[in-house]
Amino acid sequence: MYIVCSDLEGVFVPEIWINVSKITGIDELKLTTRDISDYNVLMRGRLNLLQKYGLKLHDIQKVISLLKPLPGALAFIEWIRERIQFIVVSDTFIEFADPIIEQLGRPTLLCHHLSIDPSGNITNYVLRQDDAKKKVVEALQGLNYKVIAIGDSYNDIAMLKKADFGILFNPPQNVIDENPGIKVVESYREIKSIISKLIHEEQQKDSETSD
Ligand SMILES: [Mg+2]
Repeated sequence: MYIVCSDLEGVFVPEIWINVSKITGIDELKLTTRDISDYNVLMRGRLNLLQKYGLKLHDIQKVISLLKPLPGALAFIEWIRERIQFIVVSDTFIEFADPIIEQLGRPTLLCHHLSIDPSGNITNYVLRQDDAKKKVVEALQGLNYKVIAIGDSYNDIAMLKKADFGILFNPPQNVIDENPGIKVVESYREIKSIISKLIHEEQQKDSETSD
């Protein structure tokens, strides 16, 4: 039985930090998992910048509340959920993701969380576990699911490689070049046709074994 695990930013919504950078005018905040392969280096850099410029959780949440899903994202999620189980697996934080997840119809979200001091400063981030995306895939496979994984960046690669079928959605060229062998698509339509095909093949196999 298949299940879909998908990344959030860059797949269903715009990159949160690029928009924080645009709105605050802090250019250094525009780096994302699409540019930097070590997530801890990226996050420590972001927290230092927030501290330097005096930005609090509330400021980031204000920017996030302005973000809208990418065109077609909602219909695509509905299409998936009508067919198979679906989980969003993200390296974002629950304090950031909630308004976005609400706009997406509240699919299940597995992500991390932030440490906030009494004045609302983001003092640290707490990863739910290391290699969290890959471990979600492993756990689901341990439950006898076959995983179709969708992502767009460096932090998705381990998940995509571990999945039974991994898909890179509109990735930057550096991620494509460094990861030959992972299927690359440019549209939700292409992902739909992959999912339809995999479900169809599985149904055929099931009917053959029951004959
Ligand atoms: Mg992403």
